[in-house]
Amino acid sequence: MFKKIIIPVIFAILSFDGVAQNTAKEDVTILKKIYDTSLLNGKSYEWLDYLSNQIGGRLSGSVNAQLAVEWGEKELKKLGIDKVWLQPVMVPKWTRGVTEFAYIETGPGVTTNVPICALGGSVPTLIGGIKAPIVEVQGLEDLKKLGEDQVKGKIVFYNRPMQADLIETFRAYGGCVDQRYSGAAEAAKFGAVGVIVRSMNLRLDDYPHTGAMSYGDLKDSQKIPAAAISTNGADLLSSMLKLNPKIKFHINMNCRTWKDVQSYNVIGEITGSEFPNEYMVVGGHLDSWDLGDGSHDDGAGIVQSMEVLRLFKEIGYKPKRSIRVVMFMNEENGLRGGKKYAKVAKDKGENHVFALESDAGGFTPRGFSFDCNDANFAQVESWKPLFEPYLIHSFTRGGGGADIGPLKKEGMVLSGLRPDSQRYFVHHHAKNDTFDAVNKRELELGAATMASLVYLFDKYGIK
Ligand SMILES: [Zn+2]
Repeated sequence: MFKKIIIPVIFAILSFDGVAQNTAKEDVTILKKIYDTSLLNGKSYEWLDYLSNQIGGRLSGSVNAQLAVEWGEKELKKLGIDKVWLQPVMVPKWTRGVTEFAYIETGPGVTTNVPICALGGSVPTLIGGIKAPIVEVQGLEDLKKLGEDQVKGKIVFYNRPMQADLIETFRAYGGCVDQRYSGAAEAAKFGAVGVIVRSMNLRLDDYPHTGAMSYGDLKDSQKIPAAAISTNGADLLSSMLKLNPKIKFHINMNCRTWKDVQSYNVIGEITGSEFPNEYMVVGGHLDSWDLGDGSHDDGAGIVQSMEVLRLFKEIGYKPKRSIRVVMFMNEENGLRGGKKYAKVAKDKGENHVFALESDAGGFTPRGFSFDCNDANFAQVESWKPLFEPYLIHSFTRGGGGADIGPLKKEGMVLSGLRPDSQRYFVHHHAKNDTFDAVNKRELELGAATMASLVYLFDKYGIK
C-alpha cells in the first residue's frame, strides 16, 4: 500500500523535473536560434535603411507617411504571414512650412541668429515674424509666480534643463516636458505673445528638438506661436539676458494646421495554432517628426517589430497564440492610431493578452518594463537566466508605451523594450535622428530580445 502510493509520486516528481529540464533546454535553444538569426541573417537594418533613406521623416498626414504605410503593407505581405491589412484612422495634419528663423537683438541692428524650430501644432507668427522682449522662467510654476505684470507683451523663455543626475533619461525628460506641452497655453493666459522652450536634450549642441504641444481649451484668437531653441541657443540667450534684460527676440514661422486626413495602422498577423483568439501585439509607431528621418523614433521600433514575426517564420516557430505586428500611425501628435486599434479590438471583442512596444530608440537593449500583475512579473523573473547570455538584465515594473496604453485591461501584460537611454535624447525629435545614428548590431539585438520575450509569453501563457 505504502509503495503503491510513494512510487508513482516519485515517478511523477522525476518525470516533472525531466519535463521542466527539457522545456528549459528547448528555451535555451530557441533563444539562441532567435539571436543567431537576427545577428547573422537579420532584416531589420535593411528595412530601416529603406524607411529612413528612401522615405524619410513621416509626419502624420504627409505624403511620406502614406508612402510608409504602403511600404509597410508590401513588406509584411512578402513575409508570407497569415494576414496583412490596413486599419483606417483619421489623423491630424500639421506642416512646418519654410524653415524657421530667429535672432536675439541686443541693440538696433545688432543681432545674433539662434537655431529654433516650431513645436508641433503651433500657430505661425505674423507674416514677417514677431519681435518682443524676453522673460526667462524655469518652468510653469515659475511663470505663475511672475503673473501678468511681468509677462504681458513678452516672449516667455522656458529654460528648465533636463536633470543630468537622473540615470534613467526618460525621467529627466518627464521632468521638463510640461514646459513644451503646456508652456504656450499657460503663457498665453498671462498675455505673452510667444514662447520658446529649451530643447529636451542632455547634450549642448545646435539642434532644436520639436515635439507635441497643446493649447488646451484656448480660443484660436488666444493662441501664440511656440518654438524650441537648441541647448546652445538657450544658454546663449540666458547669459545675454543676464547682461541686458532689455534684449529682444525675433521669431518667424509659417507652420499651419490643416483638416484631418485619412491614414492607416498597418497590421500583420501569424494566426495562433492552439489559441487563435488570444492576441499578442508587438509594435511601434510608423509616423515620426519631420526634422530628421525618424530612425530612432520610431523607425527602429517598427523594423524590430516586423523582425519578430519574420524571425518566427525563419526559425520555423509556430506560435500557439495569434501574434500581430502593429505599425501604429500618429503617436507623435495625437495617438490616434493607438486609440483606434484599441477601440476596434474592444468593439470586436478580441481578447488581447499581451502587448510589447519598442519606442525608446534602437540602442543596446537592457531589458523590459512591465505593466502587469505580480504572478506575471514573477514569471518574467523566472526567465532571467535565459536572457543572461545576451546581457539582458533589467526587468522592472513600469509602463509599456503610449501606443499600447489604450489596450490596457485587467489581467493583460503590457511591456516596453528598454534600451540604453543615455544617447536617446541627443537625437529625439531633432534633425540628427537619422539612420547613421543607429547601430546595426544594437538594432538586431533589440529585435531578438523582443522576439524572445514574445516566444516565452506565447509558450507559457499569461498568468
Ligand atoms: Zn516615439
